[in-house]
Amino acid sequence: MRKPFIVANWKMNFLHDDAINYIQKLILGTIDIHNTEIGVAAQDIFLKELSDSTLNTNIKIVAQNAHWKNEGSYTGETSPMALSDLGVDYVMLGHFERRQLFNETNETVNRKLRNALNNNLDVIVDVEELEQVEPVLKFITEEQMARISIAFEPTYAIGTGKAASAQGAQDVAKAIRDIVRENYGSNVSEGLRVLYGGSVDINNELDFVLQEDIDGVLVGKASLNVDNFIKMIQKLSNL
Ligand code: PEP
Repeated sequence: MRKPFIVANWKMNFLHDDAINYIQKLILGTIDIHNTEIGVAAQDIFLKELSDSTLNTNIKIVAQNAHWKNEGSYTGETSPMALSDLGVDYVMLGHFERRQLFNETNETVNRKLRNALNNNLDVIVDVEELEQVEPVLKFITEEQMARISIAFEPTYAIGTGKAASAQGAQDVAKAIRDIVRENYGSNVSEGLRVLYGGSVDINNELDFVLQEDIDGVLVGKASLNVDNFIKMIQKLSNL
């Protein structure tokens, strides 16, 4: 049985105090929820404080990017080794905005993925289309697959208010699981969490997570209000 996973993608939002107030409210609001895993993807500058505050809670702190090298002359980049050292749990890689605005490719996402896993980070790999699945997973071992979740986020749905249809998202989630099954076998594919992202809100989230192959949601805009995000988590955990 796959544990549902709901992830807030804060993107480049919030000042320090907003971030800390949000996480404190989120901790209190979800203290009794154990059947759903909660993620918060924040700017690097907040990660240490967020990780420290969420120790021993059900909330996982997620970096929004990490480099394919651990150290060296890469001005402006973030080392996955340093993230791991800080106590960050997850990194999200391959988000559409990274691809579109910062020229990330399947190859760079794959290099980053391999190095994140080598640093014991769990990874949410974003794909916008099925063709990206095999190239981003190149060289990933069966054992490493257990630490990967795949988020399907169609480009037309990100930040537009126009979510995919639940059936359309289910079809792609199933196709992702099929690709993983072909490459890694049934044990790995059955354990894999596939998330849907793109204009998910409190009104449509259950349409997605009730689908057989969708195990959670990645939430941008609707996660920025903590009260709303807590309600979304509660709704999911009451299923
Ligand atoms: C995202 O960018 O990952 C996302 C899901 O955004 P939104 O929910 O705002 O579409």
